Amino acid sequence: MNACPRAWALTYGRTSRPPQSKAVGRHQQPRTFDEVLTRTMRAAWRRKIEDLYQHKLWSAAYTERVFTAMLNDALSAAGMDVPALYRHQKIRQGLKQIRLLEQSTGLRPLVDGQPRRWAYFDRLDSEEVDGVEFYAAPELAVYHQHRWTLIRIQFRSPRTALMGQQLEHLLTVLWALKNEGLPDHISAFRLKVIQWNGTKWQEHNLNVTPKLMEQAIGLVKHDVQEMTWLSRWAKADPSLNTLPLAVHHKHCRGCHHRKQCPAIGGLVQAKLRQQHELLRHSQSEATKSLKTA
Ligand code: SF4
Repeated sequence: MNACPRAWALTYGRTSRPPQSKAVGRHQQPRTFDEVLTRTMRAAWRRKIEDLYQHKLWSAAYTERVFTAMLNDALSAAGMDVPALYRHQKIRQGLKQIRLLEQSTGLRPLVDGQPRRWAYFDRLDSEEVDGVEFYAAPELAVYHQHRWTLIRIQFRSPRTALMGQQLEHLLTVLWALKNEGLPDHISAFRLKVIQWNGTKWQEHNLNVTPKLMEQAIGLVKHDVQEMTWLSRWAKADPSLNTLPLAVHHKHCRGCHHRKQCPAIGGLVQAKLRQQHELLRHSQSEATKSLKTA
């Protein structure tokens, strides 16, 4: 929503309710090979972790077989044809990324079978706060030294600003506080983010303080207000021509709405045309009201 109000409105803003369904997002077709690869990595890792939870370990050969089959299926489903050599190269990269993830300090104790209480979650498991359903589940929660470490895993670097990301991560703690199986006080949690930077996994721990939590809750409330407002705007202008376009052209890359978007020929030009149109419209409205007066 913050990156591109128009894209948000096209995806969610014209329905009668903000996005609540688990199906949203899951059924959105991937647009690029990298999206297919990223989703497949996440899905394969998820299957692996589910089996690990039941003490079933995957061999390297089995991981490769499963991952290759999942990627081929995902490519067929997306109707993408990728040259065999390139596909093979990307399969190698995906397998390496999964292997390196398992060697991270956050995951290694689980993979090595060290005694830990732990649980895994689906990112689409939602919790409700003040009537708002939100999705901020961690991938894992690991109990060690009297506290739960909530682990978020990002298979690709996010496009949002650093401060926004930090607050989003903190919402994971809010999610955990609402989850029935976890404690209900913030001192029971640590928060760890494991993020792929293109060549390696980077791990960082975030401070969880009441003040930061307050800011994160403020962020949710602010976003809900913005969503309601944008949703009304989208309904009042079904053409969506007056809605703001993306903040930065990088958000247009891989956007599902690009083909039908005025920004298809360039974001800057589309914004200028939009400004021009709005100015022309307000001038003609002013002329009309002068004549009426
Ligand atoms: S192409 Fe760019 S401006 Fe258009 S909807 Fe997508 S992100 Fe927004």
